[in-house]
Amino acid sequence: MKCLLCNKEKLDSNILDIFSDDEICHKCRKEWGKKEIKFIYEGIKLRSTYLYNDAFRKALIQYKECYDEALKNIFLYGLKDKLRLIYHGYTLVLMPSSISKQQKRGFSHLKEIFACLNMDMIEPFIKIDDIDQKSLNMSERKNIIKKIKLKEGIIIPPKILLVDDVITSGATLSTAINLLHNKTEKMEIYTISYASSYKDNKAIFKVLP
Ligand SMILES: [Zn+2]
Repeated sequence: MKCLLCNKEKLDSNILDIFSDDEICHKCRKEWGKKEIKFIYEGIKLRSTYLYNDAFRKALIQYKECYDEALKNIFLYGLKDKLRLIYHGYTLVLMPSSISKQQKRGFSHLKEIFACLNMDMIEPFIKIDDIDQKSLNMSERKNIIKKIKLKEGIIIPPKILLVDDVITSGATLSTAINLLHNKTEKMEIYTISYASSYKDNKAIFKVLP
């Protein structure tokens, strides 16, 4: 079996690959920098697993922008049981993706990733325009606030887990929190990865035990 990221034959590269059903090799997995963090983000408990480093970003781009759907299972590999246990009883709330990108891609990238958890899932948001956040600086990103809205008549369950692939500026996430906080009883956040600023900025983000 070939590693989906580096394309090398898995058995040749590392002894740890022989008994693993991971679709990427041990070496590529290690490059992602797995280090779970937990902190309070705008009053909400947030948990995240991987540092958003170059290797992770590259894989995410390959999946999202190069439409490599085969990669959908690598992002939550080894986390399924843990996440199902921690967030038992929660409904997953997918963060919005721009409609035009999703159509081009032909699949909802978050839906495909989080489907493996077999949990209830809703997509309550509409993204109003298609600004690509990567091309914006931090203050411009803050201006995209209010560019997402809730679908008309959508019912939000009492216990929800907001999920996204990465937290960078947090602008979209903050908007989502504002839109949802009066409509549910309990809300938490899980992002697969986090920008390094969250790792270091303990003055703003209180680290949970
Ligand atoms: Zn590899």
